[in-house]
Amino acid sequence: MTEAAYDTDNIFAKILRGEIPSHRVYEDDAVIAFMDVMPQGPGHTLVVPKAPSRNLLDADPSIFSHLLSVVQKVALAVKKAFGADGVTVMQFNEPASGQTVYHLHVHVIPRFDGIPLKPHTGGMEKPEILVGNAEKIRSALQS
Ligand code: AMP
Repeated sequence: MTEAAYDTDNIFAKILRGEIPSHRVYEDDAVIAFMDVMPQGPGHTLVVPKAPSRNLLDADPSIFSHLLSVVQKVALAVKKAFGADGVTVMQFNEPASGQTVYHLHVHVIPRFDGIPLKPHTGGMEKPEILVGNAEKIRSALQS
């Protein structure tokens, strides 16, 4: 089956263009990372390449090396910032997989022994909690 084309009005494209706000923790020329507004755990962060692609399946492979290096950086930072026991890294492709926003992104979620993930796209987190968590991650990235 042919997959749909990239939609330039998807919500992450709007965040990348600065048209809607996000709680950013990292940015370079090719990648940004910001807090997931419906976190599956405290510190749930999304790492997003700036290059437009719907998901992993249509992305230019030349972006993967740098993207994954930022995923590692953010994973280390969230582990440190939240004193986590581990980190889950997830990425979904097309609706059947659970993808809901059609711009490639990688989920980075601190994990704690014995504590399950909350549901995917469950409840909205309070903005003040996201602000505080973003600050913790930014500090960990700088140290
Ligand atoms: P996926 O199902 O892999 O496409 O995940 C999309 C993720 O984006 C979900 O975890 C949502 O909670 C999250 N999300 C949706 N809208 C926003 C937004 N405006 N800012 C930050 N995260 C968002």
